[in-house]
Amino acid sequence: MADTKLLLEEMTWPEVERAIGAGFTTVVVAAGAVEQHGPHLPLLVDAVRGDRLALEVARRLGNALVAPTIRVGCSEHHMGFPGTLSLRPETLRAICVDYAASLSRHGFRIVCFVPSHGGNFAPLAEMLDDLRDAAGPGCDVRAYTDLHGFVTLWESAVRDIAPGLVERVGGHADIAESSEMLCIRPDLVRGELAVPGYVAAFDDEVAARIFTDGFRSVTPNGVLGDARGMSREIGELCIARAADGVAAALRDRS
Ligand SMILES: [Zn+2]
Repeated sequence: MADTKLLLEEMTWPEVERAIGAGFTTVVVAAGAVEQHGPHLPLLVDAVRGDRLALEVARRLGNALVAPTIRVGCSEHHMGFPGTLSLRPETLRAICVDYAASLSRHGFRIVCFVPSHGGNFAPLAEMLDDLRDAAGPGCDVRAYTDLHGFVTLWESAVRDIAPGLVERVGGHADIAESSEMLCIRPDLVRGELAVPGYVAAFDDEVAARIFTDGFRSVTPNGVLGDARGMSREIGELCIARAADGVAAALRDRS
């Protein structure tokens, strides 16, 4: 089946019916964000990265379709920056519950939620029981919820191509994420505006401060890491490594 036929919202209902009948009973849903990504990237980064990640994960899982990305996520910690939209965790939960229930009713047997935004990992982990209840018996709901593991996948990709630049992986609008955007929407990357963000040690205290005092208290320009040195080559490997790691973790939960 051609890739365009993996995208649920581009299919007709008879095509969806035939795909499910032919064994395409897994579906992948990305949970993204519309939030600030520093001075050099647009707000839609995590939404379009979610589109791509979900597609790559579906290809790797096999017999899997891709449901529409949930474009807006839990971004309260980014509200100090103009333009950011944020869902309350209960709003995101309500949306995910309705996705799981809808997809289950049509005969999907495995629904995989994949966050493409750091702020969605913890809410997804907390709502997993509710999602399973909503899907009912006969439909398994899985979620990838390892934020640290995700950043490690990016670090491994940058290290393999540009070992000297691995310190620039910070997890937000950094060399990894900016490189992915050079592959996905190069027209929207303002490379000349890329400047370092917060690049000092990222410990538990800094992580906690981001969620209590807001992202801007840690990084005035909105970047964690540094995007300088970004390239399409790094971006393609970051996309592939992330998809490999996420797909493997979701498969292990079978
Ligand atoms: Zn992002």
